[in-house]
Amino acid sequence: MAMNNQGRPTGIGSAGVAANGSSLLPNEPLLFEIGDADHSGVDLPDVEIDGSFLGGFARKSALDLPGLTEPEAVRHYVRLSRLNYSIDSGMYPLGSCTMKHNPRLNEKMARLPGFADIHPLQPVSTVSGALSLMDQLGHWLLTLTNMEAVALSPKAGAHGEMCGMMAIRAAQQAAGQGHRNIVLVPESAHGTNPATAAFLGYQVKPVPARADGTVDVNAVKAALSPEVAAIMLTNPNTCGLFEPEIIEIAAAVHEAGAYFYCDGANFNAIMGVVRPGDLGIDAMHINLHKTFSTPHGGGGPGAGPVVLSKALAPFAPVPFVRKGQGGLALVEHAEGGHLGRITAFHGQMGMYVRALTYMLSHGADGLAQAAKDAVLNANYVKARLQAVFSVPFDGQPCMHEALFDDSFLKDTGVSTLDFAKAMIDEGYHPMTMYFPLVVHGAMLIEPTESESKATLDAFCDVMLDLATDAKAGNAARFTSAPTRAPRRRLDETRAARSPILTYTPREDLPQAAE
Ligand SMILES: *Cc1c(COP(=O)(O)O)cnc(C)c1O
Repeated sequence: MAMNNQGRPTGIGSAGVAANGSSLLPNEPLLFEIGDADHSGVDLPDVEIDGSFLGGFARKSALDLPGLTEPEAVRHYVRLSRLNYSIDSGMYPLGSCTMKHNPRLNEKMARLPGFADIHPLQPVSTVSGALSLMDQLGHWLLTLTNMEAVALSPKAGAHGEMCGMMAIRAAQQAAGQGHRNIVLVPESAHGTNPATAAFLGYQVKPVPARADGTVDVNAVKAALSPEVAAIMLTNPNTCGLFEPEIIEIAAAVHEAGAYFYCDGANFNAIMGVVRPGDLGIDAMHINLHKTFSTPHGGGGPGAGPVVLSKALAPFAPVPFVRKGQGGLALVEHAEGGHLGRITAFHGQMGMYVRALTYMLSHGADGLAQAAKDAVLNANYVKARLQAVFSVPFDGQPCMHEALFDDSFLKDTGVSTLDFAKAMIDEGYHPMTMYFPLVVHGAMLIEPTESESKATLDAFCDVMLDLATDAKAGNAARFTSAPTRAPRRRLDETRAARSPILTYTPREDLPQAAE
């Protein structure tokens, strides 16, 4: 039987769904179901303690943790880890997310005890190496972007957006422009852009996309007014296109007294090639877990530093590293226009180490090469797939990601969601679906520079096989998918909205009492 690239049976070459779509992986019980509270995996001597030194805080009830031996616990987690899809097990073409390889050198450096074992409350005089690393990372970010100041502490892209927009608000309040309450957001924007603006109390005004997927400077001009605080624009945008009028847009925004926030999540396509500061941008976050190869770790720990223009630099949050006469100092208290803290401590040191390692190991030329290779790979995928897939915007080559819509699936009975589920059966993580919203049934594919031509070809072969099969009327392969994954279709909304995060022992469940 043919195997997909995750070592599971594949449907390629065999028309339709295999009769037996069973997975080789067994159902993994919970730790609480494997072990029980009456046993311990650890051999502890019985001790007689009168407990008086606990000041009345001695536990009265049983601990209720499952007792497992070390091999039982290890096997549980290893088996669970094998249910994961990861960049280490296969191509991860999730558009806008830049799922590139995380070099092991980064990990080695992050584990150096001088970085790994420091504590945020240690005296500053004992962490000059860490400050120097933060200063160097900031220097690289500022050089790559041609900006004035950097706030390293935001914990993610979305947090960076909030930080940048807070700096814009502080600058406007300082200039007597605090009444500005509208933020312009193009329709193709990532959801975090309008969410950030709304969270800070701004009114969000959408800017329509042009038929070619880019933003029209005239549409921006028409939306500008003395009430507009800023525009939040992504470049390259979420359709995978470089905004051709970005300089004119920046000029119009500034002329209207507003600021230009750039969503820099797609910086991987232009790092070392285009400096956002040269385009007139005032604030931009950089997702270290996208562009600079730090792990995307299940919601954290992440880092989304924000670079700021000269106009916004005085409003950066604390802490930041400042060069002084006695060397580097950590400025921890807000002074002048500076915002206070936006995180408890100094940000994600482990991510700073990984990102700087990536920068130093690539060098300036290597970073530019990575960006160019990412763009080349995306265009290769686009060129191969467009024979069958429909391309909504074909005016210019794409940047780091190739966008398709669902018009090639018209009348097949297969939706973008079904198509994505069928990709799981072939061993691939699906591309980004239904985003950006400006395209019907969007499929956004970002291969990144990590993938070889052979990997891209294998992926394109599978995608073309699926598309051809869908058009040939074999809807069942899609609507029933996934059949070869550890799980079938889940109620994703319920899983996100009402996750069950606590274990209820069986005897406590209402049905067990009956
Ligand atoms: C990923 C992304 C964000 C948000 O970044 P996080 O680090 O996930 O918070 C914002 N905008 C775009 C375009 C993105 O791709």
